[in-house]
Amino acid sequence: MDIIIRNANLQDGRSGIDIGILGERIAVLQAGLEAKAGREIDASGRLVCPPFIDSHLHLDSTLSLGTPRLNQSGSLLEGISLWGELKPSLTQDAIYQRARKLCVWAMARGTLAIRSHVDICDDRLLAVDALVALRDELKPYLDIQLVAFPQDGYLRTASSPENLLRALAKGVDIIGGIPHFERTMADGAASVAQLMRLAAERGLMVDMHCDESDDPLSRHIETLAAETVRHGMQGRVAGSHLTSMHSMDNYYVSKLIPLIAEAGVAAIANPLINITLQGRHDTYPKRRGMTRVKELMAAGVTVAFGHDCVMDPWYPMGSHDMLEVASMALHVGHMTGVEEIKSCFEAVTVNAAKVLNLENYGLAPGNNADLVILQAADPIEAIRLRAERLFVIRRGKILAETEPRVAKVQFGGEVKSLDFTRADLDLC
Ligand SMILES: [Zn+2]
Repeated sequence: MDIIIRNANLQDGRSGIDIGILGERIAVLQAGLEAKAGREIDASGRLVCPPFIDSHLHLDSTLSLGTPRLNQSGSLLEGISLWGELKPSLTQDAIYQRARKLCVWAMARGTLAIRSHVDICDDRLLAVDALVALRDELKPYLDIQLVAFPQDGYLRTASSPENLLRALAKGVDIIGGIPHFERTMADGAASVAQLMRLAAERGLMVDMHCDESDDPLSRHIETLAAETVRHGMQGRVAGSHLTSMHSMDNYYVSKLIPLIAEAGVAAIANPLINITLQGRHDTYPKRRGMTRVKELMAAGVTVAFGHDCVMDPWYPMGSHDMLEVASMALHVGHMTGVEEIKSCFEAVTVNAAKVLNLENYGLAPGNNADLVILQAADPIEAIRLRAERLFVIRRGKILAETEPRVAKVQFGGEVKSLDFTRADLDLC
């Protein structure tokens, strides 16, 4: 073996597992592995999991906070106009450098796959050129999927249909959309139908910003699901945000969720952003905007979570930590039951891998030797502590390391070291 990780806890509850890595693959995964390796890492009963995945991000705007100015109101609409102010002065290199920096942050956080939307409404397509180059350059480090995203509307902006085709020709992987931002409900539905036809013709996956609104009558997800069935694209289509579902009539939702499940359309919630941008017109009670994660999961829909924004015109916070995303989701979604917390961890790991259609993902013999060792015993502790990623391994090579987080307290005449894990409690 090249590397053996000893005494690991796994996401599924197994413990005391040794993981043998040979080359770029996991060779063996069992208790008491009798083999030698060039490097042995003692996980000491900590959680070892496959890499985190961010299923919804905007790499073209990330880390642009403060250029040209800060969002004073913090609202979605001021964010969109700020992005509009920034666009004329954007350069391909500036986009590239910021996105590259974010990807290095992601690696340190053990996030080794990102699906990023890229705005195609600027006729120069600078962001497309920057991010296609970045995706190809960073292939050894992390997987990036790019979605052609008509931020200013597909039918609403005259050049969008042509720009979208140009973006695909430049190598963008996935077709996006924004039906709730078209001028009418009818235009929104028409945009979904046209974009789905295009995706079906080209054999491409689809991921639309869909119903990112508090309007309970924003029902484009219904059209997206129906078109998915029509074209036989089950398992290859995702609806991002779906925040209007938070506000929809319950009777209508009882019909809608089974349709989404039958269509095999995945749902991507962005809890950090949904909770801060939705409900802005409300007084009290304030709606929190996140889609119906619990109910979608219960119906068998694949639900993943995205970070969406990190220090950009829409969101001044964040350091690209998918455990922070999972934590926010479980708080907003009232998902503090044991299995519910675990399902939030899955939404930033295995569920997201399904949405991205990643191959050879997961801790099993034959799969890619991509994994993270966390300073936590299990997924619940990992979310609670937003645990450090002690080791991040990509294709059998150590990509990132972080020292364990330990506090030292002068107390009772001695120095106590503590890390807030349950192991601390045993010492009390
Ligand atoms: Zn988005």
